[in-house]
Amino acid sequence: MKYRFFACLFAFFLMPLLSGWTVAGPIRTIVIDPGHGGHDPGAVGLSGSHESKVVLDVALRLGKLIQKQHPEVKVIYTRSTDVFIELYKRAEIANKNKADLFISIHCNTAANATAHGAETFVMGMDKTNANMAVAQKENAAILKETDYENNYEGFDPYSPESYIIFSLLQNAHLTQSTHFASSVQKCFTNDLHRNDRGVKQAPFLVLWRTTMPSVLIELGFLSHKEEEAYLLSEKGKNEMSRSIYKAVNQMIVENGGLSAPVDGKVAAEKNPADTSVVADSAAVQPKPVTAVNPDLVYKIQFAASSVQKPADDYAFRGLPKVQCRPSGSVFVYTAGEEPTYESVLPVLELVREKGYKDAFVIAFYKGERIRLDQAKKLEKSSGILK
Ligand SMILES: [Zn+2]
Repeated sequence: MKYRFFACLFAFFLMPLLSGWTVAGPIRTIVIDPGHGGHDPGAVGLSGSHESKVVLDVALRLGKLIQKQHPEVKVIYTRSTDVFIELYKRAEIANKNKADLFISIHCNTAANATAHGAETFVMGMDKTNANMAVAQKENAAILKETDYENNYEGFDPYSPESYIIFSLLQNAHLTQSTHFASSVQKCFTNDLHRNDRGVKQAPFLVLWRTTMPSVLIELGFLSHKEEEAYLLSEKGKNEMSRSIYKAVNQMIVENGGLSAPVDGKVAAEKNPADTSVVADSAAVQPKPVTAVNPDLVYKIQFAASSVQKPADDYAFRGLPKVQCRPSGSVFVYTAGEEPTYESVLPVLELVREKGYKDAFVIAFYKGERIRLDQAKKLEKSSGILK
């Protein structure tokens, strides 16, 4: 009996986690958090460079890219100028705005002048405490706040006892945060050939208080001569921000959005803005008003995964017309195939009843993914929507 219970537990709860299974709604709001600022310069580089300035520059470039490529996504900065913002306020900004992703950007320094490379952190306590030093250094930013004793309930960034509480807490967004962190690191290392210091867990105060998938990126070491020069250069700041953007774009796609890569090379799906879908909508108009548009299909997206699963997988039992298609670097799973928005809604209800609570409607025109408002417009023009 016991064995059976654990087998079930494994199949239904742990397997999805282990395989990078993600089910979430669309990415609507992203909060970008350039570390430090104002009277807190953060790390000071070999040539006297300030972490606060480097990360602000990269953050603004990243935000501009997201806004340009994904105008449907709201970008909020915790700071967009050289001002000091308390750590707890940064998380508060993300929580109040119900952000779907929180990206904190930092630079590192080390006594060892040869230390270099990029690393991305998620909130957590790893048993070896190997990454504690980085977290302690970044958390020490609170010592520059006027009322830190009260705001952090006596938390001392340099006392190991202060960190015990974190080992008792679960990170509800660990899987998604880790998945995004891995994408960021892959872009840094595969595209830019930066030294890969990996994805790590450490107890960062700024991540601890956020209630959405959150990462803290250390772009590189300002104490390393070449890396500092790279991070200060136009090329370096451009490349690093584009790399992070690439991972953001991937996350948007995984959560049901459309791919809008900067260079267009990694497009798995065409951006409807670049296609003739809008023009087609005018062409559809003269059609008889009674006809269902045969080129228009509605489906329910209920999951995305970094590994491909057979569509008749046990996990999908009971869902109609399950299909799997590659989208960006992930596999997206849909159920149903309906000609009208109205007729796909019962499928949505069914999928949600089966436990995929964040499932949502997506639409295709001539096999290409299009936005829902465009699909509804197409429907209206052929007389289906009243
Ligand atoms: Zn920092």
